[in-house]
Amino acid sequence: MNFKEYHPAPDLLKGRVILVTGSGDGIGRAAAINFALHGATVVLHGRTLTKLEVIYDEIESLGAPQPAILPLQLSSASARDYELLVDTLEQQFGRLDGILHNAGILGERVALANYPVEVWDEVMDVNLRAPFALTQALLPLLQRSENASVVFASSGVGRDARALWGAYSISKFGVEALSKIFAAEMAEYQNIRFNCINPGATRTAMRAKAYPQEDPKTLPTPEDIMPAYLYLMGDDSTGISGQTFDAQS
Ligand code: NAP
Repeated sequence: MNFKEYHPAPDLLKGRVILVTGSGDGIGRAAAINFALHGATVVLHGRTLTKLEVIYDEIESLGAPQPAILPLQLSSASARDYELLVDTLEQQFGRLDGILHNAGILGERVALANYPVEVWDEVMDVNLRAPFALTQALLPLLQRSENASVVFASSGVGRDARALWGAYSISKFGVEALSKIFAAEMAEYQNIRFNCINPGATRTAMRAKAYPQEDPKTLPTPEDIMPAYLYLMGDDSTGISGQTFDAQS
């Protein structure tokens, strides 16, 4: 798929209710704003309320549908927290048409021989456990959608295990498997699809932390990679499930 040639309809996501995790910054922020500008009611998830409030105001000032805010710290979220999140969405919307599992952390760029176990746990909790637990908890609301899309953020190192990428790489391998297994197990529900997206090198705080020597200006911005995100969230990707995509292809 060549996303540079994909031009989404202006009302691609009209009437959809879409949860974006980690929407306070980076790629998640751009996705939340773009989904809203294409008609979606976006549920802004993140761990930093003040950042979510800024995005909320930005979306409102653009005249897009009024979003909702749902803060949750994914590194320590309990089963009860997920239940409360589902109850809130159920009461407010009664269904869910999409999830972009975008929240993620890098962890440390050190060899496994020296990898701190507590950092490993945090990376796995945010990058892998949360997308699994959230998707599982939200399946009943997704099943009520006419055409739902679940998109997981992967990475190049989620397909190619490279030295010094530690828990991050392993969590993204897990995310690729998670998406494929959900797709296979839920195949009978033709109204829900599950896919992965690898954004590729993108100008964000995470990328700057991973490559401190790199000039960020040489990289595409989150805005530049939005066609792929819109394609996977909207009806143009109906029928595609269990696949993995490169946003910069
Ligand atoms: P980013 O700028 O660091 O943003 C990550 C977002 O996740 C932030 O909004 C952050 O919230 C949120 N988050 C982190 N830990 C959280 C937690 N414990 N609970 C709730 N929210 C949490 O990263 P990004 O570059 O946009 O990356 C987005 C996704 O793309 C990630 O899954 C990443 O692995 C993947 N990716 C990125 C690149 C790249 O080049 N940028 C390449 C490959 C894959 P705060 O703002 O409050 O910290």
